Amino acid sequence: MEINEARFVISNSDARRCPTPTLPEYAFIGRSNVGKSSLINMLCNHSHLAKVSGTPGKTQLINHFLINKNWYLVDLPGYGYAKVGKRLKATFTTIINHYLTQRSNLQCLFILIDSRLAPQKIDLEFMREMGKKQIPFTLIFTKADKLKPQALQDNIKHYADVMLQEWEEMPHFFISSSSHKTGKEEILQYIDELNAN
Ligand code: GDP
Repeated sequence: MEINEARFVISNSDARRCPTPTLPEYAFIGRSNVGKSSLINMLCNHSHLAKVSGTPGKTQLINHFLINKNWYLVDLPGYGYAKVGKRLKATFTTIINHYLTQRSNLQCLFILIDSRLAPQKIDLEFMREMGKKQIPFTLIFTKADKLKPQALQDNIKHYADVMLQEWEEMPHFFISSSSHKTGKEEILQYIDELNAN
């Protein structure tokens, strides 16, 4: 699949104000600065659809984009940025939880993980929550260009080892680099296949 048209629909902080759930939907989430905006822009062939910023925690709302008039791509707020106050963090969590539990058309949540880092507690906890809520998710290891191939493989192997301590299997995952434009075809094909089901 190639994205020919990505149209911004609505930005809001209330799951009830999201578009009528008549089309399949795919949401993207991750720690602030993980490379979510860059990935969304890469997928959509757009240089500034999602705002790429050096200031973590900037995307604060649920952003809906209509893709090829056929499905919704949703940019969710980044989580875990230390400089956001406790109250704002709690508000984000509530917004995300409402969205994730109420969106009947959500096909898959893509959780972005920085491929350079060892498994982070906050990501593992978030996945645990998704498991409890039975929300299907897929991982995307971002910024793969920042590591040599062997170091990348070692990090992912380590990630899988940690995941397998509490999950029966490693979730489906993709490896991406927005700088080198890799991972795009695979992720879009995956969405295409889910849309076809
Ligand atoms: P967000 O906060 O998760 O939306 O992250 P951004 O997309 O704004 O990216 C945060 C920073 O990481 C920016 O400086 C990006 O240029 C950089 N970045 C994002 N993706 C990549 C990537 O694939 N490779 C490299 N080398 N840098 C990236």
